Order: sequence, then structure tokens, then C-alpha cells
Amino acid sequence: MAEHESLEFGKADFVLLDSVSLEEFMANLKLRFEKGRIYTYIGEVVVSVNPYRAMNIYGRDTIEQYKGRELYERPPHLFAIADAAYKAMKRRNKDTCIVISGESGAGKTEASKYIMQYIAAITNPGQRAEVERVKNMLLKSNCVLEAFGNAKTNRNDNSSRFGKYMDINFDFKGDPIGGHINNYLLEKSRVIFQQEGERSFHSFYQMVKGGSESLLRSLHVSKDPTAYSYIKVGGQVKSSINDGADFKAVADAMKVIGFTPDEIQTVYKVLATILHLNSKVVAVIGVLLATKEENVGKALLYRTVATGRDVIDKQHTTQEASYGRDALAKAMYERMFCWIVGRINDVIEVKNYDAKVHGKNTVIGVLDIYGFEIFQNNSFEQFCINYCNEKLQQLFIQLVLRQEQEEYQREGIPWKHIDYFNNQIIVDLVELQHKGIFSVLDEACMTVGKVTDEVFLQGLNSKLAKHAHYTSRKLSPTDKSLEFDRDFRIRHYAGDVVYSVVGFIDKNKDTLFQDFKRLLYNSSNPVLKMMWPEGKLSITEVTKRPLTAATLFKNSMIALVENLACKEPYYVRCIKPNDVKSPLLFEYERCRHQVEYLGLLENVRVRRAGFANRQEYPRFLQRYKMISEFTWPNHDLPSDKEAVKRLVQGCGFEHDVAYGKTKVFVRTPRTLFCLEEQRDEM
Ligand code: ATP
Ligand code: MG
Repeated sequence: MAEHESLEFGKADFVLLDSVSLEEFMANLKLRFEKGRIYTYIGEVVVSVNPYRAMNIYGRDTIEQYKGRELYERPPHLFAIADAAYKAMKRRNKDTCIVISGESGAGKTEASKYIMQYIAAITNPGQRAEVERVKNMLLKSNCVLEAFGNAKTNRNDNSSRFGKYMDINFDFKGDPIGGHINNYLLEKSRVIFQQEGERSFHSFYQMVKGGSESLLRSLHVSKDPTAYSYIKVGGQVKSSINDGADFKAVADAMKVIGFTPDEIQTVYKVLATILHLNSKVVAVIGVLLATKEENVGKALLYRTVATGRDVIDKQHTTQEASYGRDALAKAMYERMFCWIVGRINDVIEVKNYDAKVHGKNTVIGVLDIYGFEIFQNNSFEQFCINYCNEKLQQLFIQLVLRQEQEEYQREGIPWKHIDYFNNQIIVDLVELQHKGIFSVLDEACMTVGKVTDEVFLQGLNSKLAKHAHYTSRKLSPTDKSLEFDRDFRIRHYAGDVVYSVVGFIDKNKDTLFQDFKRLLYNSSNPVLKMMWPEGKLSITEVTKRPLTAATLFKNSMIALVENLACKEPYYVRCIKPNDVKSPLLFEYERCRHQVEYLGLLENVRVRRAGFANRQEYPRFLQRYKMISEFTWPNHDLPSDKEAVKRLVQGCGFEHDVAYGKTKVFVRTPRTLFCLEEQRDEM
């Protein structure tokens, strides 16, 4: 359908398939991948398959081809979606968002960067210095966030271990004037443990490999990552990553963004502290944290508890001490990461009061967030991530249908209801107050005395026994997929996932002994102190239980979805073609599975049940006027709408078309095909 695309590359839009079946869908996806066409549309959704090789399709010349064009005029591309979002924002004053989803290694982060690059390239024709500054900051922030939030995993050498949503703010001219980043659920357990073949966050290796002699000496850190047990496993992993060079790039980016030398030094000190935490060098840690050695030792070995009016120091058991130490390492890293995001936000946030209040200020949001995960062993993290995907799927349903409905209303075309699976029931299963899984978990965590993961599972069984999307071994003893008594299963929209309750209570409580908070708050390093404001409270003042990890995550997801819901959405669905990073291999089963759980076929059906295509009258004429003698080379009818009617009648398609106020709606792709064919024959 798009210009310069012949059918030998397959169909550029899945709505043009002859019939909607999984086989046809897959055949088209495979053909296009093999022909090097990594992007395909479903209406306005871009389906992307990771090419695992450098593609010559992101350069200046390509950008020029897409600038200001309509989707169907050029071969499918991320740039077309970015341009559509930008045009909606600029012409119609709409806030828009681009939601990028897909599993690890599917290409989400690369896609988000190309989208940002495109927007940077097409804006600020006047070369205003302030706008250039903002653009530079936005692009540079990626480099810093990836250093601290990404890691090499077995799936992806540069895997984002956090979810990211970035708003870009535009002024009335359509130029970027600021932005804001929200981060979600950093996988902090990686700080203390990595799977075979994986690494901790890039930042550790960058500092150890790239830091100068004098920096490392001041931190008492050796150049050998295997010297530190927290990053040891990963230290031996051979990787294509150049940590030394990256260290300098990140340090430069931090400088450009405006981190002060003290702030950057503190970041290194935190990294070094975490490395030392495992090696009993309490004196060194005391120096790095700008606090007394004995305070460090005490916080690691004792816990201050208030019993009535008395405050006593209770010595940790060995187990408690190592638990506390690991919790400290994780918390320090996570806190630093959030602080870094906050500092970037300070710099990129819209400063110009006039632009914010008086001028038109619109937003494009870009969401790069973890896709649905089904592993061999699924725990609390997968549960949160999959809940996030349920929320986004619910949003997709609401927005895509709502958007269609609104357009039909605007154009005065009758709306026909379409049936599809509504996953709200699963969202409720997880998040509903009192009855949902998160509530049951929080309740279990609040129980006094020894709570176990089993207590939590009993709670689930008693509350959710009748729920159609929940089961456990106790409730369904013959179910073979539920291997252990600790397992429960959720029937997600994307498929069944068995979760093990082991660790749920602990991860949800996410306890960090108050003593550590006070230790860090009382540091004489002001940057470090700033990261730990709650350490200000003395033991007798700490009364409120901190919110649990599940509640925090749930609240952040609800806020995210509310934010996205008031924007016009564009979607990028990323697919990973194989598990060996090969540019040649299209593993059919792997891809089919992703097509299924991304709900792509359903997406095509919804799209086709309505009108497959809609175009403004002048555009439609411009493209097809050569087909009819009434419209070629020009028409003398009273309006373009009348001319389109005449053209359509001449072709015999009137039964398949509806006429809106400004657009013609074409129901079946077949009609578009015929029009395109006739056009080609002219
Ligand atoms: P995760 O969820 O683990 O963060 P992701 O979906 O963000 O994964 P990316 O990091 O974007 O995945 O992509 C993984 C790798 O795939 C990249 O490092 C790059 O090598 C390759 N890749 C992805 N997209 C493209 C592309 N458009 N062109 C060339 N290579 C790509
Ligand atoms: Mg990523």
C-alpha cells in the first residue's frame, strides 16, 4: 500500500492480508523479515522485528523522506509513527504518547532512541540555542540511564533493568523545551546476585575498568572486577562491551547534563562502597561514606530497637547481618539510581514559566517498558511485570477502541460495536482493594509474628478459590502445570503463568533496617545525605510502616496509566526473531508465540472490523485521481468530497465506503488493493 513497496516484500500492513489467520500473519512477517523489511503496520501500530544488524534506514536522507508525510505514503517505519505523533501534537494540539512493548532483546530501547533522534532532527529549524541545549540533554540522558540501569543478561547485552517513561515538552512552535523521566521498578536484586553468564549493572564494570589510577586509589578499588564478590560472576563474562570507553562517555554525559564534580564523586563512592560491603573493610567504607568507622560496623552488626520507652542495641545473627548487608547494597544502588533520574529531571524540566503557563505546551511521551515475562521460575518481579502488561493491555483496549469511536463520531459515521476479550477481570484480580492479590500480600506482610510465603498462599486460596483466572495446587491437585505446593497460576491475557510464592513476602516488605538510613543520613557528605532524607527520624519517631514494594509499584502503574490515558497513543510492538542474536534466523515458534501474546492478530481483527483505512478527501484524490476521467487531471465538482464519491462510484466500491465530514473511510483492504492496482496500471 505504501509507495515504493512492491508485493515481493509482503504486505506493508497486516490489515491487507487476504484473510486473518495466524498462518498468513506469520508468513507475511517472515517474508518481510527475510527481505530486510523489519517494520510492518497494523493500521497505525508498527510491528518491528529486531534485525540484529546495522540497517541503513535511520540516516538524514531517510528522516527527510518521512518528515511531514502521512503513514501510508512511505514504507512502514518508526519515523512515520514518530511523525504521526508529532503532527497530531503540532496540528491538533494533542498530547500524544508512543508505547513500545516487547520482550527482552526485542529492540524497544533502540526504537525509543531512534524515535527521539527523529524528533530531535525535525525540530528547531530556527536553531534556537535553548532548544538545542534541551535536545542535547534529552539525548545525553539515555547514555547515563543505560550505564546505571542496564546490564548484560543472557537475553540482551544491553538489557534495561527498569521501566522508563519520558515526556518531551514542546512549545507553541513545536520545539522541545524540556522533559521529564519516570522510572519503574529497577531490578535491584542484580546488585547482589547475577545468573551464570550475566553481569551486574554496567556502571560497576565501567568504573573498575575505566576509572583512572588516582580515582581507583582514592576509592581503594582494584582494577579487577573478580576481586569483588557482588560483581565477580559477571566479571569473568567475555562481552563485546567496551567498559573503559563507556566510562568516559558516561562521565562526559554527566558533566554535560550538569552533575557537579562532588556529585559524580559521590556516585563513584556509592559504587565503591557496595563493592567493599562484601570484604569487611569497614574502615574504607567509613571514609567513602564520610562517617565514622565504628558507626558502619555497628550498623552492620546491630539493630536499634525501641521497646516501650527503652532503646536497646540488639546484635544481629550471622544470617540477619548478611541479610542487612545485602539489603543495604541494593538500597544504596536503587536510591542512587532514583537520585540520578531526579537530577536529570532538575535539568530538563521546563524552566520557562511563560511557556508553561501562557503558551501552548504539549507533550509526546515515550514508554519503554518490560514486556510480558514467562520464565522457568517466576517470582515477585515477573508478577509485577506481568501485571504492568495487563494494565497496558487494558489501556490499549480502551484507547484503541475509544480512538476509533471518537473518530467515527467526529466524522459522523455510525459506530459498530466489536467484541474482544476484555482483561479488566485480570487487572482486578491483581489490584482490587481487599480482594486482589496485592492486598492479600500486604495483609500477610502486616501479620505480626513469623509470616511465611505459605501463609500468603493460604490467604490467596481462601480469597480467590472461585476466581476463573486463579488456581493453585491446593485448589486443583490434579493440575500438572502446578508442580509444587508453593505455586499458584494466573491465567493472563497473554497466557498462563505459574508463579512460585517463595520470596514474595520478603521482596514485598523490602526491609532496610532503620539504622542504615540513619547512618547514611548522618554522613558529612551532603550529596549522600540528600539521598536519605528519612534517616532524619530517630528510632522513637519511626512509627509509620513504609509502603510495601507491591503497593508502590501498583500506585506507580495506576499513575502511569492515568497519564497515558489522556494522551493520543501510538504503538510499537517489538518482536525478537531468535535467541542467538542472528540477523538471518526467523525462529517460527518463538515469533508465533510473541505474535500471540502481543495480541497482534486480535489487533488486526479489531482494525478490520472497523474501517481498514481512512484518508482525508484531498489526499485520497491526490493519490487516486488518475483512475477516473471525472477527476483527472482536475475535477469540476463542488467539493473534493463529491469528487471522491464520483471516483468511488466509477470503480463500483460504494458499498464498501463511508463518507465522513473530512475523510473517506474504506472498510476492506481488498478495495484499497484494487485502487492501488488500478493506480499502478495507469
Ligand atoms: P530489554 O527489555 O532487555 O531492555 P530491548 O527490547 O530494550 O530489551 P534493545 O536493547 O533495544 O532491546 O535491543 C537489543 C539489541 O538488539 C541491541 O543492542 C542491538 O544490538 C539490536 N537491535 C535492536 N534494534 C535494532 C535495530 N533497529 N537495528 C539494529 N540492531 C538492533
Ligand atoms: Mg531495553
